[in-house]
Amino acid sequence: MIHLKTIDELRLMRESAQLVSKTLGMLAAEIKPGATTNRMDQLAGEFIRDHGGEPAFLGMYGFPKNLCISPNAEVVHGIPNDKPLEEGDILSVDCGVHMNGFYGDHAYSFEVGEVAPETKKLLKITKESLYKGIEQCVRGKRVGDISYAIQEYCEKNGYGVVRELVGHGLGRKMHEDPQVPNYGRKGSGKVLKDGIVLAIEPMINLGTEKVKFHSDGWTVTTLDMKPSAHFEHDVTIIEGKPVLLSTYRYIYEALGITSNEEAPFTKDF
Ligand code: MG
Ligand code: MG
Repeated sequence: MIHLKTIDELRLMRESAQLVSKTLGMLAAEIKPGATTNRMDQLAGEFIRDHGGEPAFLGMYGFPKNLCISPNAEVVHGIPNDKPLEEGDILSVDCGVHMNGFYGDHAYSFEVGEVAPETKKLLKITKESLYKGIEQCVRGKRVGDISYAIQEYCEKNGYGVVRELVGHGLGRKMHEDPQVPNYGRKGSGKVLKDGIVLAIEPMINLGTEKVKFHSDGWTVTTLDMKPSAHFEHDVTIIEGKPVLLSTYRYIYEALGITSNEEAPFTKDF
């Protein structure tokens, strides 16, 4: 069952989502060769608690850390560790916050130093596919329209779209209905309505779409060990149109990136 949110609930959800955004922005300055993901995890936990939230992933389904950090061929659910980052790595950082009774959940894939051109392109296309999906969050369209838009754009670029892991509804629970796959048929699935909140999260591989689930119970890698990218935003529908609850602006401020990619999905409410 899909839980539609009131405007007051959406305001609270925006606070949770924006605390994730600020945490990712804080981390952006820390991501460089030699840094460890354990240190990032510790900083994120402190930052979230200092701002009145709880790190949502810690203990969820038994997960041992605050953040899921997945370098290179790791798709998602990577466990932070003491291995130093290296020049040319990419790093998917997925962060969840619980605050005011609601969850925020979003992710960004970072470059560590100078990254190979084909990997840079994978990050660019994956992020663009996220916005292709968000564009479809219009009252009366269906979940399959989001799924199709992401799949079509990524496959057109020759990439593998992960099948085993999907986006989801978000609210008082981290994972609510509906599931939001990154592949699917136009016009299929649940109808989108005002007040729905979706965590849309393309997980896109440079090579094969096939993935491997590892014996630690968490880590997922690409089967061919080529890089994988992951971007996630929290989005709702207000007055029929898509509105972002999360933002990459803090990351971009930290990295000195200028972007107006969020402008079509930004609304004061
Ligand atoms: Mg996430
Ligand atoms: Mg998610």
